[in-house]
Amino acid sequence: MLAAMLRRGAVIVLGLMFGCRTATPVQPASPVAQASAVSVAGPVRAPAGRVDAAKITVLSTMLADKGVGEWGFAALVEADGRRILFDTGARPDTVLRNAETLGIDLRTVTDVVLSHHHDDHVGGLMTLREAVVGQSPGALATVHVGAGMFAPRRIDGRDVNSMIAIKAAFERTGGKFVVHDKPTELGPGIWVTGPVPRVHPERNWSGSRKVEQGGAWVEDTLVEDQSLVLDTERGLVVLAGCGHAGLVNTVTHARASIRAAPVLAAIGGFHLFEADDEQLAWTAQQLRAVGLAEFYGGHCTGIEAVYRFRALLGFERRESLVAAVGGRYVLGEGIVPGALAH
Ligand SMILES: [Zn+2]
Ligand SMILES: [Zn+2]
Repeated sequence: MLAAMLRRGAVIVLGLMFGCRTATPVQPASPVAQASAVSVAGPVRAPAGRVDAAKITVLSTMLADKGVGEWGFAALVEADGRRILFDTGARPDTVLRNAETLGIDLRTVTDVVLSHHHDDHVGGLMTLREAVVGQSPGALATVHVGAGMFAPRRIDGRDVNSMIAIKAAFERTGGKFVVHDKPTELGPGIWVTGPVPRVHPERNWSGSRKVEQGGAWVEDTLVEDQSLVLDTERGLVVLAGCGHAGLVNTVTHARASIRAAPVLAAIGGFHLFEADDEQLAWTAQQLRAVGLAEFYGGHCTGIEAVYRFRALLGFERRESLVAAVGGRYVLGEGIVPGALAH
């Protein structure tokens, strides 16, 4: 079996090298009591455009059905002709190589959304930009980030926010950053959430980093952490990078600020790899309340959470799967996993 996996190019990387890896176990105060908060949010704005056709292809995560795996995340979002790169992986060339392996041309991708500043999500940005700028100066040229992305961070007095240096280098290539402090529509039905209010007691960060705030160094809660949301006729498709804001907080924010629709699918990294049984059960209960229909968990979601959700939410096999490089979510079709993650 191992030989067959290797022949197929399957790679499992269980490295623990980057900023997302050391989450504090989540200890919600009494999460069950707050369950009703999610399901009753009403729309706060008139419906805008809807996405009719969408495909999300995973380009970086630990499990790889094609290409190479790593501790990181990236995915290509294609929605009604718009092509957006969501996060850029950890190692400088992972997404570039995986895109080549999958036959994906990044020269027609204009926009990048970065979920947060950690190296396992921004590590490929400069390599990718430099690979396309010569032929297509407008490719991968506009990067959308949440407010707080460039705030100085430290561990034991050492500066660790590499986005500060990346910003200067990226801008020298003619690229620009757009900072979002609230949900913003990038195209009809295509949203970035901006920073997510932490209304539920999800605590999905390591606690090891400090951030500069008003002249003081305080615990870094990854305030900039944002997700991408597709507003489709059947519901919201939520794509997260590392889930530091919390999966439930993110869908709560999306339903309150974009549209109070069912959550059709949650895709990406949700930082549940260290969640205990209580946290997973509470999260599943919240997801049930918002009508979650499919779960494609990669990166820091961990393996166990995916299968717990399959059981706790009564999903079919194809409705809750571990994401792999080369795997896809297709609107109207559902999760199209690689061979290894079936
Ligand atoms: Zn992270
Ligand atoms: Zn991460």
